[in-house]
Amino acid sequence: MNRRSYCVVGGGISGLTAAYRLRAAGGDDAMITLFDPADRLGGILRTELVGGQPMDLGAEAFVLRRPEVPALLAELGLAGRQRTTTGARPLIYSGQQLHALPSGTVVGIPSSALSLAGLVDEATMARIEDEPARPFCWRPGSDPAVAELVADRFGEQTVARSVDPLLCGVYAGSAATIGLRAAAPNLAAALDRGAASVTDAVRQALPPAGDGPVFGALDGGYRVLVDELVARSRARRVRAAVVEIGRSGHGWELHDDTGARWHADAVILAIPAPRLVLLVDEIAPRSAAAARRITSASSAVVALAVPLDTPFPQCSGVLVASGERLRAKAITLSSRKWGPRGNTQLLRLSFGRFGDDLADRASDEELLAWARDDLATVFGVTVHPIECRVQRWIEAMPQYGPGHADLVAEVRAGLPSGLAVAGSYLDGIGVPACVAAAGRAVTGLLEAL
Ligand SMILES: Cc1cc2nc3c(=O)[nH]c(=O)nc-3n(C[C@H](O)[C@H](O)[C@H](O)COP(=O)(O)OP(=O)(O)OC[C@H]3O[C@@H](n4cnc5c(N)ncnc54)[C@H](O)[C@@H]3O)c2cc1C
Repeated sequence: MNRRSYCVVGGGISGLTAAYRLRAAGGDDAMITLFDPADRLGGILRTELVGGQPMDLGAEAFVLRRPEVPALLAELGLAGRQRTTTGARPLIYSGQQLHALPSGTVVGIPSSALSLAGLVDEATMARIEDEPARPFCWRPGSDPAVAELVADRFGEQTVARSVDPLLCGVYAGSAATIGLRAAAPNLAAALDRGAASVTDAVRQALPPAGDGPVFGALDGGYRVLVDELVARSRARRVRAAVVEIGRSGHGWELHDDTGARWHADAVILAIPAPRLVLLVDEIAPRSAAAARRITSASSAVVALAVPLDTPFPQCSGVLVASGERLRAKAITLSSRKWGPRGNTQLLRLSFGRFGDDLADRASDEELLAWARDDLATVFGVTVHPIECRVQRWIEAMPQYGPGHADLVAEVRAGLPSGLAVAGSYLDGIGVPACVAAAGRAVTGLLEAL
């Protein structure tokens, strides 16, 4: 009998989903080996106890608008562990004040002046109102940076105060660095269809008004999903980094950093783009060249447990506008967002934007001090942490710049048969998109074999 052997490189959600899907397709006959040098699997999905409660120090949520994560949870028998938000909404910190999150926008791009009332000045309001009447020219298929389009049509304040806080929360990037097609695919599609103005395109792209929660999470944290995928995949775990891949007969030979060699009929590379470049430079130079052009941002998360009676307002957190004198780019009041548990309040502050080196450079003590200062500035609250954790995510957030989809197509087109890629730099940065890309990688590999 011909048993197929697979190697999965990278044990984040992308690699774990791929390993699970390979097991589901190949059954007991599939030999699956999973490589990751980290002390525990999950990559950016990392749950730790903070203040005695499980808390996610990397990704903490998933968008419910996409079906992949709820479907995967249901498939794994974990649907009952899904939590949704309390209904508390985030605020925007701009002009040294807190404002309601704009409504009727697509990633902060307004569908009317009313959307940004109170957040931008009168001149910007007038400009937004006037936008449909101004001559507009769009080249179908083009992919400008979000700022290029939005500043021109709605003014710089709309970019800095409404769009940047949202894009920074998702990508640790800004409207200047993220392409429109990645940030707002439905809006770009409406423009391609011939929308008369950007306002018109935003109106066409607005998600249907629903009153359901936008985000889900896992009771017990992402660790619950990670553990289940590990168990279900029944992959042999190798705690080492793969440092080289080469042809071996009809398959592949992998070398890890302990000097061991491994054979595989097919390989899934579920590692970040900068790591992919190092592994495929010789065997897939076209893919490596494209992946090299995908830049990444680093981020640091300061997670805090504070006394239950710390008087935070009733909001799920704060997104910070560009140009504010704060160090944090976002604050999540986790206990307000997901509901209180235990006898402490949990919150997290995120630091680091594309182009700065805060996450690499700042010491834990500095990050903690900045967290306390920013909480005092934004909420007027002095916190007395019961427990604190600092987690750094270096080069973890790929930047979906203008033309990103073309780079991804190049990465995939340059791969030889028997190699596939999965990861957050491909079809979307969030966990749902990673789950989808991992499924796509497995389907493609199995068809090729
Ligand atoms: C701070 C932060 C907050 C986020 N919040 C959210 C959120 O709330 N919701 C959401 O949907 N998304 C969120 N994201 C995005 C999401 O977490 C990631 O896109 C996703 O987890 C990436 O998974 P991955 O498996 O592709 O990569 P990773 O999780 O980075 O895993 C890659 C793995 O590959 C391993 N590796 C690297 N090189 C090698 C090698 N040579 N050999 C073997 N193994 C190797 C690494 O050790 C790592 O474990 C967030 C990201 C960050 C950084």
